[in-house]
Amino acid sequence: MPRPINFTAIEILPALLDKSKTQTIRPLFKIEWLKRNPLKPQDKEGVMHKKEPRFKVGDKAKLYWKMRSKDWWHCACGKFSIQSSKIAKEAHTLPPLAATTHSIACSNKIFPKLLGEVEIIEVFEIKMSHLPENGWRMSMPNLKIGHDIDTQENNIKFIQDIFQKDGFKELMQFFTWFDKKYNLSTPKRFAVYRWKWLS
Ligand SMILES: [Zn+2]
Repeated sequence: MPRPINFTAIEILPALLDKSKTQTIRPLFKIEWLKRNPLKPQDKEGVMHKKEPRFKVGDKAKLYWKMRSKDWWHCACGKFSIQSSKIAKEAHTLPPLAATTHSIACSNKIFPKLLGEVEIIEVFEIKMSHLPENGWRMSMPNLKIGHDIDTQENNIKFIQDIFQKDGFKELMQFFTWFDKKYNLSTPKRFAVYRWKWLS
């Protein structure tokens, strides 16, 4: 049974829709938030737990846009979505009329939240951190000597490959997004899942 992968980041939506996105990066940690001190409610403290990768090579997954939303149809502008009947969902028929009317005015694509099915073809671990002087670091903790990213030039190619396959337009946009979402001021571990689109 294919398991779902959910996407919500508008930055990578175009790459999901044209299927140039062939990878996702997911945390290998879970933060358990501790009870807040009632005297200092602004202090957010958590304990980090390790998480195992969710997928292995050969697994299949279904990719969804905003899976938890009740709306089945979404507009690529990110500002419009609409429900449709259960029957319409199952038949994958056309979006409701209101969605079509919106897309004429908006000129963006209307798409169903089930984006397609993929097969995982590569899984590896990376570590990312935000350095104090506005720099960034990405490494492969399981890198074996002799691997082809062990030179500076290949390392640059590797990082470029990572953010492009992830659907980001530029490196800064990529790092800023991950820093904001996962706070990279301390190094964090992630799993990189790469896939081929099946549908
Ligand atoms: Zn729109």
